[in-house]
Amino acid sequence: MSDEESCHIAGDAPVDNPTDLAMVYPIVEIFHSVQGEGFHAGIPHVFVRLGTCNLRCEWCDTDFMTFKNMNAIDILAEIMAFDCKRIIFTGGEPMLHDLWPLHRLLKARGYVLSVETNGTIEIPEGLIDWICVSPKDQMYPDVKIRQRTGDELKCVYVGQDLEIYSGLQQGFKHHFLQPCYMDTESVEWNGKNFAETEAVVKTNAPWRLSLQTHKWMGVD
Ligand code: SF4
Repeated sequence: MSDEESCHIAGDAPVDNPTDLAMVYPIVEIFHSVQGEGFHAGIPHVFVRLGTCNLRCEWCDTDFMTFKNMNAIDILAEIMAFDCKRIIFTGGEPMLHDLWPLHRLLKARGYVLSVETNGTIEIPEGLIDWICVSPKDQMYPDVKIRQRTGDELKCVYVGQDLEIYSGLQQGFKHHFLQPCYMDTESVEWNGKNFAETEAVVKTNAPWRLSLQTHKWMGVD
């Protein structure tokens, strides 16, 4: 079904495709919060965290295998309960799932869609308004990055040579390095990572520092 077919007649409520409404997604959580990192830091969003991932990064703090299967109609209802038109699909790896049904339901209601992805799965043209790729080459040098264009390239810095991103950088408008932050580690451990990332950013334009401010504040 095309976007046009799912669009509503001006002034009327959207006419949704029953197949879209019945689509099932593994949902870890849906919550309203302020984006804490990257280009949109400080802007409220509804986060839709989808379950499962094709990687296993050692710093990953998401229990992406604990999810419930939800119909899109119920996901839509949860999203619409918040007074916020900006969505971030995150995970786990959200691109493991067919997001077109949710796209049609949400775009028909005026939502702006962003995704945070590890980049291993190519994103269909027109599916997402804002693409943030966070590649994990520093952990998985042999994993192929298939989504090579987007709005934001956001990399967790653990001392890797930034040359590994030289072939990717040009496909993205904004470039962020983020210190590895683990709340199970000490202030000193996290502070050392911050200092190292800050030092690298100072001498490696156009990389900018991204901080996971939401973690520092203890919010989602
Ligand atoms: S790609 Fe993201 S969600 Fe998957 S294991 Fe790595 S950090 Fe976790």
